[in-house]
Amino acid sequence: MASISRSHHHEKCPRCGSTLVSIEWDERVNAREVQNLWYCWNCKNEFVTTVTSGEKEPSVTEITAPFFTSLLVE
Ligand SMILES: [Zn+2]
Repeated sequence: MASISRSHHHEKCPRCGSTLVSIEWDERVNAREVQNLWYCWNCKNEFVTTVTSGEKEPSVTEITAPFFTSLLVE
């Protein structure tokens, strides 16, 4: 099997270093940048990261779509 390491971002909380974080909100700032608002379940901190994406973004959607379709079929 090929590596799937790029399928998900792993952010760390800047306050406590925990990886128990989840995206609360994301907003496209411009054509290339997306800001993510994260929530840390460990210390209840919220922080924002900016993701700069190139042409890779559409391919993520292509991978996600068939995945959800197969879930609906079953
Ligand atoms: Zn934290």
